[in-house]
Amino acid sequence: MDFDKSYWKQQSREHWKFYCPYCGTQRRVAFQPRPQAKHYFQILLTTFAFTTAAWNWLSFKGIVAFIPFWAVFEVIYRFRVRAALACDQCGFDPYLFLVDQNRAKVEMEMHWRKMLQKKGVPFPEKRKSGRVIKEPLPTASESTPTSTASVPPTNF
Ligand SMILES: [Zn+2]
Repeated sequence: MDFDKSYWKQQSREHWKFYCPYCGTQRRVAFQPRPQAKHYFQILLTTFAFTTAAWNWLSFKGIVAFIPFWAVFEVIYRFRVRAALACDQCGFDPYLFLVDQNRAKVEMEMHWRKMLQKKGVPFPEKRKSGRVIKEPLPTASESTPTSTASVPPTNF
């Protein structure tokens, strides 16, 4: 992993739009890459409310709380942008793919396990040779006893 290279540097202020390289779904990330002016205004309002509430304790010095509020907001916002990158359809995460391809594969497999489990279909397990095992494993059906019982096998 290359820690010197930051993937956050070349950002535009527009919403990210792209086609998922795995399933081809047209993607538009709901969040803008960086916080907007309205967010800073909201942080400022929060700071004023905090300053007013803590006036007896801090008086006008409470305005310094803008900096920790801003830091916390920025971290949460960027985590949400980061989480919104993963494709809803196939679970492909472009950022994770750039950082660690093996982890991206594992995350996609977990996504598909969840998706198939919701539909009551067992996940097609692979042997070391790459051949797909035909019979379902008992662990796939044990975790969802109610949904697997009601869904017929021809549903998917
Ligand atoms: Zn996708």
